[in-house]
Amino acid sequence: MKWWEGDDGRHEGWDAAVFPDGRVSTGPADGGARVHPIGSDGRIGFGRGDVVDGRTAIGWRGHCACGWQGPLWERVAQVRHDFAARRIYALSECLLSGAAPDDVAVAIRAEWETHLDPPSLVAVRQAAEAVRRAQGHLDAAVRAARKDGRSWTRIGESAGVRRQYAQERWGPDPAGPWDQAADRR
Ligand SMILES: [Zn+2]
Repeated sequence: MKWWEGDDGRHEGWDAAVFPDGRVSTGPADGGARVHPIGSDGRIGFGRGDVVDGRTAIGWRGHCACGWQGPLWERVAQVRHDFAARRIYALSECLLSGAAPDDVAVAIRAEWETHLDPPSLVAVRQAAEAVRRAQGHLDAAVRAARKDGRSWTRIGESAGVRRQYAQERWGPDPAGPWDQAADRR
Protein backbone atom coordinates (compact mmCIF):
# COMPACT_ATOMS: atom_id res chain seq x y z
CA MET A 1 0.00 0.00 0.00
CA LYS A 2 1.38 3.35 -1.07
CA TRP A 3 0.10 6.90 -0.90
CA TRP A 4 0.02 8.96 -4.06
CA GLU A 5 0.14 12.73 -3.96
CA GLY A 6 -1.56 15.06 -6.41
CA ASP A 7 0.05 18.30 -7.59
CA ASP A 8 -2.01 20.73 -5.60
CA GLY A 9 -1.99 19.12 -2.16
CA ARG A 10 -5.73 18.50 -2.19
CA HIS A 11 -5.43 14.94 -3.43
CA GLU A 12 -3.74 12.10 -1.68
CA GLY A 13 -4.77 8.68 -2.84
CA TRP A 14 -4.14 5.12 -1.82
CA ASP A 15 -5.29 1.61 -2.53
CA ALA A 16 -7.37 0.61 0.47
CA ALA A 17 -8.42 -2.84 1.51
CA VAL A 18 -12.18 -2.94 2.10
CA PHE A 19 -13.61 -4.96 4.97
CA PRO A 20 -17.03 -6.57 5.46
CA ASP A 21 -18.20 -3.86 7.87
CA GLY A 22 -17.37 -1.15 5.33
CA ARG A 23 -14.24 0.09 7.02
CA VAL A 24 -11.15 0.52 4.86
CA SER A 25 -7.46 0.23 5.51
CA THR A 26 -5.14 3.20 5.61
CA GLY A 27 -1.96 1.21 5.92
CA PRO A 28 -0.31 -1.75 7.53
CA ALA A 29 -0.25 -2.10 11.27
CA ASP A 30 1.36 -4.44 13.70
CA GLY A 31 -0.39 -7.77 13.11
CA GLY A 32 -2.71 -6.65 10.32
CA ALA A 33 -4.25 -3.68 8.58
CA ARG A 34 -5.18 -0.40 10.21
CA VAL A 35 -8.82 0.36 9.40
CA HIS A 36 -10.97 3.44 9.64
CA PRO A 37 -14.64 4.14 9.00
CA ILE A 38 -15.54 6.30 6.00
CA GLY A 39 -17.73 9.34 6.49
CA SER A 40 -20.71 10.11 4.26
CA ASP A 41 -18.43 12.57 2.42
CA GLY A 42 -16.08 9.74 1.47
CA ARG A 43 -13.36 10.91 3.80
CA ILE A 44 -11.57 8.80 6.34
CA GLY A 45 -12.40 9.42 9.97
CA PHE A 46 -9.71 10.76 12.23
CA GLY A 47 -8.20 8.81 15.05
CA ARG A 48 -5.98 5.81 15.31
CA GLY A 49 -8.54 3.34 14.02
CA ASP A 50 -8.49 -0.39 14.72
CA VAL A 51 -6.29 -3.22 13.58
CA VAL A 52 -7.90 -6.14 11.75
CA ASP A 53 -6.62 -9.22 9.94
CA GLY A 54 -5.99 -8.10 6.35
CA ARG A 55 -6.86 -11.56 5.09
CA THR A 56 -10.53 -10.87 5.88
CA ALA A 57 -10.67 -8.08 3.26
CA ILE A 58 -13.50 -8.41 0.72
CA GLY A 59 -11.56 -6.44 -1.89
CA TRP A 60 -9.73 -3.19 -2.62
CA ARG A 61 -10.69 0.29 -3.67
CA GLY A 62 -8.99 3.56 -4.45
CA HIS A 63 -9.60 6.37 -1.99
CA CYS A 64 -8.51 9.98 -1.95
CA ALA A 65 -8.20 12.62 0.73
CA CYS A 66 -10.63 14.74 -1.31
CA GLY A 67 -13.38 12.18 -0.70
CA TRP A 68 -13.21 10.45 -4.08
CA GLN A 69 -13.50 6.68 -4.04
CA GLY A 70 -13.11 4.27 -6.91
CA PRO A 71 -15.00 1.11 -7.78
CA LEU A 72 -14.55 -2.02 -5.70
CA TRP A 73 -12.10 -4.65 -6.87
CA GLU A 74 -13.95 -7.59 -5.44
CA ARG A 75 -12.08 -10.50 -3.99
CA VAL A 76 -13.52 -13.71 -5.48
CA ALA A 77 -12.97 -17.44 -5.62
CA GLN A 78 -10.41 -18.64 -8.13
CA VAL A 79 -12.99 -19.78 -10.73
CA ARG A 80 -14.60 -16.34 -10.81
CA HIS A 81 -11.36 -14.44 -11.31
CA ASP A 82 -11.76 -11.85 -14.09
CA PHE A 83 -9.38 -8.91 -13.97
CA ALA A 84 -11.29 -6.86 -16.55
CA ALA A 85 -14.45 -7.19 -14.45
CA ARG A 86 -12.52 -6.22 -11.29
CA ARG A 87 -13.00 -9.69 -9.83
CA ILE A 88 -9.79 -10.74 -8.21
CA TYR A 89 -8.64 -14.03 -6.86
CA ALA A 90 -5.93 -13.41 -4.34
CA LEU A 91 -4.74 -15.71 -1.67
CA SER A 92 -1.01 -15.72 -1.33
CA GLU A 93 -0.70 -12.09 -2.35
CA CYS A 94 -3.28 -10.97 0.12
CA LEU A 95 -1.14 -10.76 3.18
CA LEU A 96 -1.96 -9.90 6.71
CA SER A 97 -1.65 -6.19 5.94
CA GLY A 98 -4.44 -6.34 3.35
CA ALA A 99 -2.17 -5.01 0.60
CA ALA A 100 -3.66 -5.27 -2.89
CA PRO A 101 -1.96 -7.55 -5.42
CA ASP A 102 0.55 -5.56 -7.47
CA ASP A 103 -1.47 -5.51 -10.72
CA VAL A 104 -4.58 -4.40 -8.82
CA ALA A 105 -2.62 -1.65 -7.08
CA VAL A 106 -1.40 -0.38 -10.46
CA ALA A 107 -4.94 -0.40 -11.88
CA ILE A 108 -6.34 1.40 -8.84
CA ARG A 109 -3.66 4.04 -9.13
CA ALA A 110 -4.66 4.57 -12.77
CA GLU A 111 -8.29 5.03 -11.67
CA TRP A 112 -7.16 7.55 -9.09
CA GLU A 113 -5.15 9.47 -11.70
CA THR A 114 -8.18 9.58 -13.97
CA HIS A 115 -10.14 11.26 -11.17
CA LEU A 116 -7.41 13.93 -11.03
CA ASP A 117 -7.54 14.44 -14.77
CA PRO A 118 -10.84 13.47 -16.42
CA PRO A 119 -10.35 12.73 -20.17
CA SER A 120 -12.12 15.96 -21.18
CA LEU A 121 -9.59 18.00 -19.18
CA VAL A 122 -6.68 15.96 -20.52
CA ALA A 123 -7.86 16.97 -24.03
CA VAL A 124 -7.93 20.64 -23.02
CA ARG A 125 -4.46 20.43 -21.51
CA GLN A 126 -3.02 18.71 -24.59
CA ALA A 127 -4.59 21.26 -26.95
CA ALA A 128 -3.28 24.14 -24.83
CA GLU A 129 0.19 22.61 -24.90
CA ALA A 130 -0.01 22.34 -28.70
CA VAL A 131 -0.98 26.01 -28.92
CA ARG A 132 1.95 27.02 -26.71
CA ARG A 133 4.34 24.94 -28.81
CA ALA A 134 2.99 26.48 -32.02
CA GLN A 135 3.28 29.96 -30.50
CA GLY A 136 6.91 29.26 -29.72
CA HIS A 137 7.51 28.23 -33.34
CA LEU A 138 5.82 31.39 -34.58
CA ASP A 139 7.88 33.61 -32.28
CA ALA A 140 11.08 31.94 -33.47
CA ALA A 141 10.05 32.27 -37.12
CA VAL A 142 9.32 35.97 -36.66
CA ARG A 143 12.68 36.55 -34.98
CA ALA A 144 14.37 34.75 -37.86
CA ALA A 145 12.44 36.82 -40.41
CA ARG A 146 13.47 40.05 -38.66
CA LYS A 147 17.06 38.86 -38.62
CA ASP A 148 16.65 38.15 -42.31
CA GLY A 149 15.72 41.79 -42.79
CA ARG A 150 11.97 41.39 -43.41
CA SER A 151 9.66 44.28 -42.63
CA TRP A 152 6.90 44.24 -40.06
CA THR A 153 4.47 44.75 -42.92
CA ARG A 154 5.59 41.59 -44.73
CA ILE A 155 5.81 39.62 -41.49
CA GLY A 156 2.32 40.79 -40.53
CA GLU A 157 0.97 39.74 -43.92
CA SER A 158 2.60 36.34 -43.58
CA ALA A 159 1.27 35.86 -40.07
CA GLY A 160 -2.21 37.06 -41.02
CA VAL A 161 -2.12 40.10 -38.74
CA ARG A 162 -1.79 43.85 -39.26
CA ARG A 163 1.64 45.45 -39.34
CA GLN A 164 0.98 47.38 -36.16
CA TYR A 165 -0.11 44.27 -34.32
CA ALA A 166 2.95 42.36 -35.49
CA GLN A 167 5.27 45.11 -34.33
CA GLU A 168 3.56 45.41 -30.96
CA ARG A 169 3.39 41.67 -30.52
CA TRP A 170 6.96 40.83 -31.49
CA GLY A 171 8.84 44.11 -31.35
CA PRO A 172 10.86 45.88 -30.40
CA ASP A 173 13.78 43.81 -31.51
CA PRO A 174 17.45 44.63 -31.24
CA ALA A 175 18.15 47.57 -33.48
CA GLY A 176 20.44 46.80 -36.35
CA PRO A 177 21.61 48.60 -39.43
CA TRP A 178 18.96 46.73 -41.41
CA ASP A 179 16.15 47.69 -39.06
CA GLN A 180 14.91 51.01 -40.45
CA ALA A 181 15.63 50.04 -44.01
CA ALA A 182 13.67 46.82 -43.72
CA ASP A 183 10.55 48.63 -42.59
CA ARG A 184 10.71 50.90 -45.62
CA ARG A 185 10.95 47.98 -48.04
ZN1 LIG B 1 -8.84 13.43 -4.92
